[in-house]
Amino acid sequence: MKIFLDTIGCRLNQAEIEHMARQFRAAGHEIVASAGHAEMAVVNTCAVTTQAASDSRGRIRAIARAGVDEIVATGCWTSLLPKEAGALPNVRHVVANDKKGFLVPDVLHLPREEFNREPIERTPIPGLHRRTRAFIKVQDGCDNTCTFCVTTIARGEGRSRPLADVIADINAALGGDSKEIVLTGVHLGSWGQDISTSLNAPLHLRDLVQAILRETDVQRLRLSSLEPWDLDAAFFSLWEDNRLMPHLHLPLQSGSDSTLRRMARKTTPESFRELVNAARAVIPDVAITTDIIAGFPGETEEEFAETLDFVKATGFTGGHVFSYSSRPGTGAARMKGQVKPEIRKKRNRILQEVIEDSGKSYRERFIGQTMSVLWESTTEYGQSGWRMEGWSGNYLRVSASAPSPRWNELDMVELLEMAGEKVKGVIRSAYVTNVTT
Ligand code: SF4
Repeated sequence: MKIFLDTIGCRLNQAEIEHMARQFRAAGHEIVASAGHAEMAVVNTCAVTTQAASDSRGRIRAIARAGVDEIVATGCWTSLLPKEAGALPNVRHVVANDKKGFLVPDVLHLPREEFNREPIERTPIPGLHRRTRAFIKVQDGCDNTCTFCVTTIARGEGRSRPLADVIADINAALGGDSKEIVLTGVHLGSWGQDISTSLNAPLHLRDLVQAILRETDVQRLRLSSLEPWDLDAAFFSLWEDNRLMPHLHLPLQSGSDSTLRRMARKTTPESFRELVNAARAVIPDVAITTDIIAGFPGETEEEFAETLDFVKATGFTGGHVFSYSSRPGTGAARMKGQVKPEIRKKRNRILQEVIEDSGKSYRERFIGQTMSVLWESTTEYGQSGWRMEGWSGNYLRVSASAPSPRWNELDMVELLEMAGEKVKGVIRSAYVTNVTT
């Protein structure tokens, strides 16, 4: 059967859809690049914002219009509103997050044990979600109670995947020629807290990272979003191994102490600042990206000014600013003092501009330097060349051209000039692995 896979939202959803692709392929099915060629489609939905929920519905409708007769809806939006998902055109299966691990055998009417077999090599999903980087899910759910967050309702309690399963998934990705592994989870930094060792002490994310670096041939390892309170200064010594990419995504959400308390975040502006300083002291030129919410309920002009000052002082290299979006069932949705949408939007724009400026200054620092880039997209632009785009270790979006396509290759690229949010470069040589453990 021909199957189309689609995903909205976070890297965890991407990791899950990649896992399903391997399971469908292991069962003898073909993953196709567009809905127009598919007999079945799976849509991994998202509910993090009102917009993401609306995109999820829109995506399912578009796939039905493309002629797919059997659609499987799964993911966070589906888990929160299963009846609404089931009422969308051509949705034949509604799979909540807690059953997602068995989605493939269940929709194929195969015994679940069928999938306890040797993992097959990863092959990137064709179409829009074709990625060179392999997103590996190491954890699901979250035990925190951030008052704006619907994810914790949709994904349930935190649970870690066993280390051996993660290593097996990484080896399957490396066997399929993945050059970069990205570890993902709802609350990645909590990995291991529910796994105790023979000494009765829980594991920590650092144990997982050390095991991956020790036991696999990974060339580039990147960590996705990390909550700041899960880390300490000692964590950054892991970056002595240069296979760990110098990029940290640390969600700030607000730079105001009182707003952070209303959000029930376990961090303060002061502790966040100390963590960033500790990271920068150990990892030269580390890229620090973030997420911020503009117009959280009760956010006064003074609190917004505190956030703005904090963001300016920190110098993030990139990030997402979300206008606060009320999510049913969350504590924040019930709070008094909801900020008017036009003010949320205005604050969003101001914060975004500050981050764009600091990101630009950061990128400028690397003009003239040569660094390794993994090519993620290649487009033919004429008879004699290919335009390529990819990511440096410190998460600069780099473009260059070459006489033949170099998708999924690592090259040493000299960065020549700024080009909007990208940096233009020229390939100097192929990258040669330099493993230091
Ligand atoms: S840490 Fe907070 S924001 Fe992140 S998933 Fe958990 S509850 Fe949501």
